[in-house]
Amino acid sequence: MTILAVGSVALDTVETPFGQAEEALGGAAVYFSYAASFFNHVRLVGVIGEDFPEEHLDLLKRRDIDLSGLERARGATFRWKGRYDYDLNEAHTLDTQLNVFETFAPKIPTSFKDSEFVFLANIQPGLQLQVAEQVSAPRIIACDTMNFWIEGAYDQLRRTLQKVDILIINDAEARELAREPSLVKAARQILNWGPETLVVKRGEYGVLMFNQHSVFSAPAYPLEDVYDPTGAGDTFAGGFMGYLSTVEEINDASIRQAIVFGSTLASFNVEDFSLGRMKTLKMQDILDRFAEFKLLSHFEEVEA
Ligand code: AMP
Repeated sequence: MTILAVGSVALDTVETPFGQAEEALGGAAVYFSYAASFFNHVRLVGVIGEDFPEEHLDLLKRRDIDLSGLERARGATFRWKGRYDYDLNEAHTLDTQLNVFETFAPKIPTSFKDSEFVFLANIQPGLQLQVAEQVSAPRIIACDTMNFWIEGAYDQLRRTLQKVDILIINDAEARELAREPSLVKAARQILNWGPETLVVKRGEYGVLMFNQHSVFSAPAYPLEDVYDPTGAGDTFAGGFMGYLSTVEEINDASIRQAIVFGSTLASFNVEDFSLGRMKTLKMQDILDRFAEFKLLSHFEEVEA
């Protein structure tokens, strides 16, 4: 099974109350691909500028991520600058320099068109739809978005959602998309628009999953040290899709396991800036923390 990721590749400058990183490797497609690469073969489609450091490409290649769909364009790489205060759930964007990302029009190489698992990271919804239409026989198309597109490209986003199996967004985005303050009602509404599954990320409060038959709640791992939440959502999506791409049957049970794998990967990612922690991560670390997640939310039944 192969996984296709389409989205930003960035140089991020991030400040948190606990430190900072300058022009570090980032971008939604990078965080996603790195996490998913623990489970399966990943193909990345994105764009970088002439200034993108070779060492970052080497890091991705060492995880066997196929970069033949990563275009190098004339100009500078996309840059994002953000700050987190003590509420680490909320990123404050200080600066966005789109540079080569401004005219990004994802071209899916012919050899990538048979990808079975597709992740449309946060890009213009019209471009997401074009990608969805270019893959020949996807098993699962998952997608992320943000308030900017919900507000500025609402109709286009609704058309894209008709092609999406799993929507992975945060709680504020779910409410804004459905124009509904109750998360449960918002979820019901969104599930009528195309996606079979809605995964709502709630930062340090964990994840809620909604489908037509059930609701599932997974906690976030209670970490002693959180240094940088950047990329947590995309890392979650990478662990989630990565695991799903390994199972024989995609059903409620495997989606629940995938959510815990996603939460596990995200919990490692926030332990350091950029991909600092991910670089040293081993599959055994992931499996150990997955097991801890089970203990974390296990409780006994009571006698009636
Ligand atoms: P997350 O923290 O999971 O929402 O993702 C953060 C990543 O998204 C950072 O590495 C940024 O480079 C990237 N990013 C920030 N703004 C945008 C944007 N407008 N479009 C695409 N990617 C972005």
